[in-house]
Amino acid sequence: MKIELAEKYGFCFGVKRAIKIAEENKNSSTYGPLIHNSKEIERLNLDFNVSLTEDLNDFNTGDKAVIRTHGIPKNELAKLYDESVDVIDATCPFVTKPQQICEEMSEEGYSIVIFGDEKHPEIRGVKSYAKHGAYVVTDVSDLKSLKLGDRIAVVAQTTRRAEDYLQITNFLIPRHKEVRVFNTICNATFENQDAARKLSREADVMIVIGGKNSSNTKQLYSIAVENCSNSYHIECEDDLESKWFKDKKLCGISAGASTPDWIIQKVIDKIENIS
Ligand code: SF4
Repeated sequence: MKIELAEKYGFCFGVKRAIKIAEENKNSSTYGPLIHNSKEIERLNLDFNVSLTEDLNDFNTGDKAVIRTHGIPKNELAKLYDESVDVIDATCPFVTKPQQICEEMSEEGYSIVIFGDEKHPEIRGVKSYAKHGAYVVTDVSDLKSLKLGDRIAVVAQTTRRAEDYLQITNFLIPRHKEVRVFNTICNATFENQDAARKLSREADVMIVIGGKNSSNTKQLYSIAVENCSNSYHIECEDDLESKWFKDKKLCGISAGASTPDWIIQKVIDKIENIS
C-alpha cells in the first residue's frame, strides 16, 4: 500500500508561532490549552515547564500567562493586566483581526454577525469585542429570526468553510442596505482543506490526524469522508486499526493545524508496519 501525505497539512503559521512563544517563555502557564493538541501540550510541560491554567483567578501578580492562539475574551485580558500578570500574547494574528473588526464596526454602529460556533473559545473572544453584542450563527436558518439593522458587518470563524460562509452572506446581501463582508477565514485552513479534498478523491483510505476537539481537524475529516468513505479521524498512532488498511492501495494522510510533525511521523511509521 502506498502512503501519501496531502500537499499541505499540519501546523499552521499561528500554531508554529504560539509554540515558539511558549518555548521562549519557560516556567510560564498558558491560560486554557495553547492549541488543540493534548500531546503537544504535554511536551511543552515536560520540556519547557509551560503548564496549563484553566481558571483565570489562579493567575497572580508577576505570573507569566501565555494567551492561546484562539485568543480570550476582552474582559479576561483586561483582568490579567489589571492584576499585573505578565501577559504574553500568542493569539494568532488571524484571530486578532476579526476581534478588531468587531470592535471597530460596532463602534461605527454596525450590527455584528459572526458565522461560527458560539461555544468555541475563538468566537467567545471575538464576540467580546463587539461593543453592543453580536449575533453568532451557524447556518441560514439562524439568521431568519434575527432583527438586524440596515448596516451589518459579518465575520467568520477562521476555520469555517468558504462555501458555507457564502450561504450566510448570500442571504444577508439582498435583504439589507449595507453588508460589510470580511473574509476572516485563514489561508492555512483553505490550503489544508483543498489538499485533503484532492487527496481524498484518489485515496482508498484517508487518515486525518488531530485532536478530537480541534475544529479544523473535524472540518478536514468531513471533507475527506465526502470523497472517501473509509476516512478516519485519529489523535495518534494508538487509534489506528489494522482492518482499515486491508486490501487498500493508497492511504492518504492529512493533519489538522495543531498536529505536530512528530505525531504524524509516528502514525506513518505504524501504518507502514501494518501494511
Ligand atoms: S488555523 Fe489559521 S487562524 Fe488558526 S492558528 Fe492557524 S494560522 Fe491562525
